[in-house]
Amino acid sequence: MANDTPDLRQIVSQINSDMAQVEDRGSVANYIPQLACVDPFQFGIAVVTADGRIVKGGHADTPFSIQSVSKVFTLTLALRQLGEALWDRVGWEPSGDPFNSIVQLEAENGRPRNPFINAGAIAVTDALLGRRTPVEAVTEILQFLREVAQDESISVDAVVAKSEKASGFRNVALANFMRDWGIIRNAPEKALDVYFNHCAVSMSCQQLALAGRYLAWGGRLGPEGPQIIPAIIARRINALMLTCGHYDGSGAFAFRVGLPGKSGVGGGILAIVPGQASIAVWSPGLNEVGNSKLGSLALEKLTSQTGWSVFAMH
Ligand code: GLU
Repeated sequence: MANDTPDLRQIVSQINSDMAQVEDRGSVANYIPQLACVDPFQFGIAVVTADGRIVKGGHADTPFSIQSVSKVFTLTLALRQLGEALWDRVGWEPSGDPFNSIVQLEAENGRPRNPFINAGAIAVTDALLGRRTPVEAVTEILQFLREVAQDESISVDAVVAKSEKASGFRNVALANFMRDWGIIRNAPEKALDVYFNHCAVSMSCQQLALAGRYLAWGGRLGPEGPQIIPAIIARRINALMLTCGHYDGSGAFAFRVGLPGKSGVGGGILAIVPGQASIAVWSPGLNEVGNSKLGSLALEKLTSQTGWSVFAMH
């Protein structure tokens, strides 16, 4: 296939019907109390193609907690603002450990392996915070999301942010540990305030797929769209999404789906087909390593039927 829109519509519609039949939908994240309340019997998918069309199915317009998918956008902003200096504070290697692991930090002098594990994302958030107030930093992140998704309605779900703040003891430990090593330079509670808020942003699959366009088109919002970031930054973020975007399930995602992707414990996944499409899927039930079970399955079906892969010729 390639960009044949009627076929894509059929494929997406079939995937949506197939997903409705799946009985084992994984388990919703329950370590953030507010996420445990989400109905697991939901599935959405949205695909934005090079000609600007949006092909969608299921609950593609239902907002959900983007959680760690937000780390893609904070990394983008931090790289745009700090450039190469960001890599003094965080690495670019896969961790092979769970998303909230603390064990590597001790062995590696407080410098997180990559920007997508929690420790790395908190370090990136602190770098982005710089000398701003947490409110200014959250406002800047929201403005960026609204710009790239071209949707002014995107906002933080304050109830989810509060729920995570009240239960995020592990993240508090990671931030304090990194503060001790000088990786975090603001007060840990300030960096965490921004982190909990950006994880609690609510977006639908359609909004997320639109927001991801700059990664599919070399930093532009579509083949002819405005340049949001330099192409090299988009390339690097895609590389990190492929190698680190699904924590210790990143190898399985590369193997089965073959695209740069970033998951969140809210059940969302953003996946990028360079030059061809930006895709968002959502289903709240997670597999054993914390990635959306149906979301991963749907992407596997989509890529096997379209031939989309960064490892194949188009
Ligand atoms: N806000 C979540 C946490 O810090 C993000 C985890 C995720 O989505 O993978 O635990």
